[in-house]
Amino acid sequence: MVDYIGTEGVRQIVARVGAARFMAGLADEIEADYRRWAEFDKSPRHAVHSPVGVIELMPTSDGRLYAFKYVNGHPKNTSEGLLTVTAFGVLSDVDTGYPLLLSELTITTALRTAAMSALAARHLARTDSRVMALIGNGAQSEFQALAFYDQLGIRELRLYDTDPLATEKLLGNLQALALPGLKLVPCSSTAQAVRGADIVTTVTADKRNATILTPEMIEPGMHINAVGGDCPGKTELHGDILRRADARVVVEFEPQSRIEGEIQQMPADFAVTEFADLLAGRAAGRTNAADVTVFDSVGFALEDFSALRYLHSLLNEQRSPRRLDLVPELDDPKDLFGILRPIVSPSAVRSDNTRPAAAAQAQPA
Ligand code: NAD
Repeated sequence: MVDYIGTEGVRQIVARVGAARFMAGLADEIEADYRRWAEFDKSPRHAVHSPVGVIELMPTSDGRLYAFKYVNGHPKNTSEGLLTVTAFGVLSDVDTGYPLLLSELTITTALRTAAMSALAARHLARTDSRVMALIGNGAQSEFQALAFYDQLGIRELRLYDTDPLATEKLLGNLQALALPGLKLVPCSSTAQAVRGADIVTTVTADKRNATILTPEMIEPGMHINAVGGDCPGKTELHGDILRRADARVVVEFEPQSRIEGEIQQMPADFAVTEFADLLAGRAAGRTNAADVTVFDSVGFALEDFSALRYLHSLLNEQRSPRRLDLVPELDDPKDLFGILRPIVSPSAVRSDNTRPAAAAQAQPA
């Protein structure tokens, strides 16, 4: 049997652990996995593009466990009552190749993306950061807000979205959480939200080279958490922000980010730092309080590997985890046909055999 976590399963796990604690725990798992970067099999994700979206497969393995995520990105979906991003994934045992867990990853992607954003910001943003602008107030936004409140100590959130209803929804959800000391400021433009902010998170969805942030908005010392630009032709930052002499640009896995990240706008020799090198001390991040740091997030398979591993361990703490009969269980593994034996009646075989004759009868003479 294969362990199974659906949307209700994730809801129950997060309700038990608490969303903020879940993301903090997941950030620790992601960090631990990035610290053993060399052990992972790494490749840019496989993407199939259409004019309106992308469907991607994201595999990785550390030699003991293998994981993949299926994920889509369709910015036009919300106008049809559908999510922009949906996902599911599998965790497998490399030794046998057997799947261990099949899990929803739509809610989990939002949790892991926010966990990764907060983790990167803990290593890049100024430690006295208290004010964050949150541009794009859709499905991912509450998760980002909560992770930065909890893990970075953000106490003022400036909210902006071109859709005022999205901001209203975010405001309502955050107010309902009643987070002590958190000031919420809805804004009427990106420029207004960003002015004076310590951290700027962009998490918009638009399948084009958008310029959500322009150079004049950027102030010395800011940390930019650029989440929404994550596939070819879909970016959020004006290229001159990346070109600033004081800008330090950090990516997850460089070969994938060159294709999908903000740095797709830059020449191939544009200098970036991989997050694993930053963690290992092989490269510097912020060198002084005035540096502008950019986390050019696209989402890498390792983060979903960590999320699946983390979910699996939390599932195993439950008394009766759900299981699926995804893989046949056989007394004799060479007798796969045997599993069909009780339900394949002689008449079913006969009727199958007569099908060509019936079809022939139906042919016009
Ligand atoms: P969503 O469609 O629910 O929300 C996006 C919001 O952006 C919408 O409310 C929309 O009105 C707003 N928006 C669009 N253009 C804007 C603009 N110019 N200024 C301000 N707001 C604008 O999508 P979501 O699920 O929240 O995802 C947001 C983005 O994050 C997507 O592009 C998605 O692909 C990306 N994403 C990245 C990662 C990662 O790891 N980097 C993970 C998940 C999602």
